[in-house]
Amino acid sequence: MASRDVLVIGGGIAGMQASLDLAEMGIRVRLVEKNPSIGGKMAQLDKTFPTNDCAICIQSPKLVEVGRHPYIDVLAYSEVIGFSGSIGDFRVTVHRKPRYVDAAKCTACGACAEKCPTLVPNEFNFGLNNRKAIYKDFPQGIPSVYTIDPVHCKLLSGGKCGVCAKVCQAKAVDYTQKPYDEEFVVAAVIIATGYELFDASQITEYGYGRLPNVVSSLEMERLLNASGPTRGHLMRPSTIRAKTRLEQIEKQLKKAERSGDAPLLESLLREQQRLQEHVHKY
Ligand SMILES: Cc1cc2nc3c(=O)[nH]c(=O)nc-3n(C[C@H](O)[C@H](O)[C@H](O)COP(=O)(O)OP(=O)(O)OC[C@H]3O[C@@H](n4cnc5c(N)ncnc54)[C@H](O)[C@@H]3O)c2cc1C
Ligand code: SF4
Ligand code: SF4
Repeated sequence: MASRDVLVIGGGIAGMQASLDLAEMGIRVRLVEKNPSIGGKMAQLDKTFPTNDCAICIQSPKLVEVGRHPYIDVLAYSEVIGFSGSIGDFRVTVHRKPRYVDAAKCTACGACAEKCPTLVPNEFNFGLNNRKAIYKDFPQGIPSVYTIDPVHCKLLSGGKCGVCAKVCQAKAVDYTQKPYDEEFVVAAVIIATGYELFDASQITEYGYGRLPNVVSSLEMERLLNASGPTRGHLMRPSTIRAKTRLEQIEKQLKKAERSGDAPLLESLLREQQRLQEHVHKY
């Protein structure tokens, strides 16, 4: 018998709602999302028109519903790489990227991220703060699993570390995971890949990308958001960066003091003094 299954590409609010509607009709859905979690742009918004409710408060119950629905398979951190067939009988190949964390064991406790020494600009917050090399893109993200970013992880990029595996009590970290491809036969495909932000630096008179405190509307959403880089306190990006650098200097100073590196100590103290004098102006 031909498959009645449906493949949905894109785990934003549109793909999530389409999946739920189909699943409620008894149709099995494979929901493919390229990011580590489903949620899309709505998860980044602060409050939403028309009710002015907190976006994630509206979306969170739906995220859980999608994650738990027996008729929905969430294939996050995955992309469609092969496609053939016609209506009623499509063959789709989905590329599954390794998280280097066993999704069945991870409890999303966050102990690994707390101890990970590697800081990476947080793309969910447009680089306005940092995340760790082992991370969850946002707390309510589904699947509720941590992921190692292999480009920035010290160990996976050829260096030494392994801290996350040592602190993970669930023994979920698995540096040996490999990518693999899965094939699905589906009757229909819904493409709900949403939108990408326009590159505002193309309108040069606005100064976006040139002036540090010109932000896009989605960056503004993150700046206003209680779970954003400033916990919702409105700050200019240059102030955030200066404060972040001051925090880094504090840590580097302690290291330099311990190792007795006098020239480094002096240059760090000079930078610290300069930033402290001017931080309110940035
Ligand atoms: C600043 C701002 C404020 C807004 N405020 C409001 C508001 O107040 N009220 C309102 O109703 N709307 C608002 N919107 C609009 C709202 O954000 C969008 O309409 C909605 O989020 C779009 O959802 P979507 O699922 O279509 O797309 P997206 O949220 O873009 O989701 C698409 C998903 O598909 C994934 N994807 C993309 N390509 C692939 C691929 N090849 N393979 C697998 N996955 C892929 C993406 O990673 C993403 O998760 C606002 C938008 C902005 C920018
Ligand atoms: S990988 Fe381990 S330490 Fe990290 S969140 Fe998952 S269970 Fe917790
Ligand atoms: S192994 Fe990689 S992800 Fe794990 S703690 Fe070290 S740098 Fe972080």
